[in-house]
Amino acid sequence: MRSHTASQIGQDTVGKMVTLAGWVDRRRHHGGVVFVDLRDHTGMVQVVLDPEAIGESAELRREFCVQVRGKTVRRPEGAENPDMAGGMVEVEAAELKILSRSEELPFLIEDRITAEELLRLEYRYLDLRRPGMARNLRARSEALRTVRRTLEDLDFWEVETPTLIRSTPEGARDLLVPSRHNPGSFYALPQSPQIYKQLLMVAGVSRYYQMCRCYRDEDFRADRQLEFTQIDIEGSFWGQEDVLATVEKVIMAVVAALRPDQAVGAPFRRLTYSEAMSRYGTDKPDLRFGMEIVELSDVFAETGFRAFAGVLAAGGVVRGINAGPIAVSRARADALIDKARQFGAGGLVWMVAEEGGRLRSPVAKFLSEAELEGVVRRLGGNPGDALLLVADGERTVSEVLGRLRSELGKPDDPGRLEFLWVVDFPMFEERDGEITFLHHPFTSPADTEMMRDRPLQAAARAYDLVLNGVELGSGSVRIHDSDVQRQIFEILGISDEEAEERFGWFIRALRFGTPPHAGFAVGFDRLVAVLRGVASIREIIPFPKTQTGAEPLSRTPASVSNRQLKELGIAVDPRRIKASPPA
Ligand code: ASP
Repeated sequence: MRSHTASQIGQDTVGKMVTLAGWVDRRRHHGGVVFVDLRDHTGMVQVVLDPEAIGESAELRREFCVQVRGKTVRRPEGAENPDMAGGMVEVEAAELKILSRSEELPFLIEDRITAEELLRLEYRYLDLRRPGMARNLRARSEALRTVRRTLEDLDFWEVETPTLIRSTPEGARDLLVPSRHNPGSFYALPQSPQIYKQLLMVAGVSRYYQMCRCYRDEDFRADRQLEFTQIDIEGSFWGQEDVLATVEKVIMAVVAALRPDQAVGAPFRRLTYSEAMSRYGTDKPDLRFGMEIVELSDVFAETGFRAFAGVLAAGGVVRGINAGPIAVSRARADALIDKARQFGAGGLVWMVAEEGGRLRSPVAKFLSEAELEGVVRRLGGNPGDALLLVADGERTVSEVLGRLRSELGKPDDPGRLEFLWVVDFPMFEERDGEITFLHHPFTSPADTEMMRDRPLQAAARAYDLVLNGVELGSGSVRIHDSDVQRQIFEILGISDEEAEERFGWFIRALRFGTPPHAGFAVGFDRLVAVLRGVASIREIIPFPKTQTGAEPLSRTPASVSNRQLKELGIAVDPRRIKASPPA
């Protein structure tokens, strides 16, 4: 139905008859003619119609779907639009066919969108017509193709794993699917293909990958989705370095495809987990700016300032950041102190560097010359820089300064890409008095004995990939020894019977000559979102869910018929049913 797309119309087609098909983006009546910006998936072309010759031109409205045949001509002098690709030419219509009409639109199809997100999602098919959204979809497709091509060239096999499985422990809640054949039994949707990709290693597959959908019934903090896409990889006779080098190749190929303006070199920078925590207060630091956390405990070892002395005597630490030239007014200082408290600190000490290496601070009078000098020496500070100090237990100090750092830090060049590997994660952490895994329970310890004797101090062979302060993915070297796997379940407080019942089938597989193996998974939506510079993965997922897990277009989730429930042997507790449908 067309000879050219919008983006193909330009100087090259001048004088040619072309046939275009697309949507009426804008329509103006001007000096007896109708101008239409005709939009398709590639861009926009200006079409000029003479209503005398083509009667239907007068009927055109926004988003009518049309076919136009006409000649490409240079625009008259003064009417060129150098901002628009193809803005030097236009198409003089000889024929117009209205293919289908559009109702009144719920919002205008343009990138400066002001419509509520809920409305955008309800009419997602219109929202996706916006040029920016079309570019996102296209970038996503390009990224998918690039990942596949790169991994295929490296001899990876794409192997699909089931989506109706027995629940796998990856730290989130499962989404369940009832079994009609076995009422009372359920499938879980995979939180990731973790166990299956490991079974593929046992099965002798050497290099596996899958562009897979993962399902996690998480609370909707921080831009998560119930379902999302991962680049999932695994390899046998592989260790950490093999995984990192492979992931770097994939990522660099995607960057080259989506952000050719950015030169990203490998190997990516690396920090151990404990370095990341002590220098940046987080395991996903944004390295587009410095503002490192600096140790000051020794500067205050003999201090007479009670607040610091007390913390140090109790085994705590004093550390600080140079937050740069932010004006610390009374109100700003109070706000910072409130923030620090909110993040878990008892308080915050602020100082402002002044000319001559002096410091202005409400606590300056309690500090010795040597202490003030020590702070300036460690934290540096040009006149006007704000220095923020926190004294508390080490964990709290890291957390609080890390969060202040991420709020106050501003990259000079926000478009820059700073990739980082964080390696040597701990094996376990304590949460509410219980030991839980940090990555997942199939992760190999760095030292099995250490893990047995002092689990909370034990390091894992686990690593994360971080981009501009965003965690892009995680992976690990896996356990390939069924005894070690059992020990982990024991440390996690999973009894032998329970382990047998839930994972016996997997532990058994490890007993048949399992090769050492390792792998990784990259959050694909997030990778594309950061590279496209959009704030939410919802801009990258064609049909995403809202923050409450609803899909406003089809009004999902929805109730099902009593007959369906009966077949499944399920009764819904009427007291749990919400009066208003989800939105
Ligand atoms: N299954 C892990 C995850 O989804 C990734 C991996 O360890 O390969 O986070």
